[in-house]
Amino acid sequence: MDRVKLLAARYRAAADRPYFATALYALSIVPSSRVPTMGVDAHWRCYVSPAFVDATPVEELAAVWIHEVAHLLRDHHARAGRLPPADQRDRLRVNVAQDCEINDDLLADRLPLPAGRMEPRLFGLAPGRLFEEYVPLLPPHEHPLDCGSGAHGRPSPWEIGEGAPMVGPVEAESLRRHTAEAMRAHRRSRGTLPKGWERWAEQVLEPVVDWRRVLTGAVREAVAWAGGAVDYTYRRPSRRSAAMRGVVLPSLRRPLPRVAIVVDTSGSMGDDELAAALAEVTGVLREVGVHGNRVTVLACDADVHAVSRVTSAEQVTLAGGGGTDMRVGVTAALAARDRPNVVIVLTDGHTPWPDEPAACRLIAALIGSGAPPPPGWVETVSVGVVSAGRVSG
Ligand SMILES: [Zn+2]
Repeated sequence: MDRVKLLAARYRAAADRPYFATALYALSIVPSSRVPTMGVDAHWRCYVSPAFVDATPVEELAAVWIHEVAHLLRDHHARAGRLPPADQRDRLRVNVAQDCEINDDLLADRLPLPAGRMEPRLFGLAPGRLFEEYVPLLPPHEHPLDCGSGAHGRPSPWEIGEGAPMVGPVEAESLRRHTAEAMRAHRRSRGTLPKGWERWAEQVLEPVVDWRRVLTGAVREAVAWAGGAVDYTYRRPSRRSAAMRGVVLPSLRRPLPRVAIVVDTSGSMGDDELAAALAEVTGVLREVGVHGNRVTVLACDADVHAVSRVTSAEQVTLAGGGGTDMRVGVTAALAARDRPNVVIVLTDGHTPWPDEPAACRLIAALIGSGAPPPPGWVETVSVGVVSAGRVSG
């Protein structure tokens, strides 16, 4: 393989757009006659066809270097794994969508990509979108394009297991941050960036936390913990104990925990955010099989110190009014005959909290912003007003 030409192209790419330099030089090169042009795997190994290097001018090769590293910077393989299953099936269509997401920015930056490249225009689509948006708009068809598992997430035939140096996920994340910071510095010195890269750098440096994922994760984890907390010692005999060998232990059914949801109805917080948070919580509980009489929803109106037990989330209405004291709701929840293992409080956060850890897992979903943080033993999830929850790269 003409390594000199390939390296000259990488040098050219890094010299012309220095903010990509660190990421470009983190790629390790694996020559392969099985890869059609160039491709990457998720460990930042770049597979290169010697024939393609021979046939392609240096300035076009430089553009392809940037194309390949863009798949990795934009975390395409991880994002592909979060697509709806129906969209994931056609990996080459995903790949075409990803190339559309990358190439419109590269072309706007006047990079001379080789002929045959994908771009949104070819499909009558507007540029500037994310690949997740392009996938369902593209015709599902077989396409010879394959940029490797670093793009669509599934191993391609030419990818090797071990051998070439690998970049791990932590290092990859720091390469993304470094690149985004270099782009920001480039912009400050009045350089220009294509819109897509600008947005990407902003999101890397100031990510919007997906509260839905954090909240459902916390609820899931608490329920699993509560389900496993009972009979722990019986279910987990020491494996090292030779005396246990051959002894059949009674298999105990994993008990389903009880959950109480305490809803702040003081009316000082957004109706929409409350409804969204409540829907997420009840949705994930249903998913893990905790429903019916195992879930209690308590509407807590501190003004009248009244706690009402409602039979469904839809019955919760915001009462309006001033003060908030979620301690009233938590106490009422724990006083129930069937004491809950997990209590989830949905509140704007302007409330006093119990002085000491409650005899249950307590999760607070704080809706809106500006609330003082609860004590450290309360698991806290901020449900932001900016609740788009879209994950993108
Ligand atoms: Zn590609």
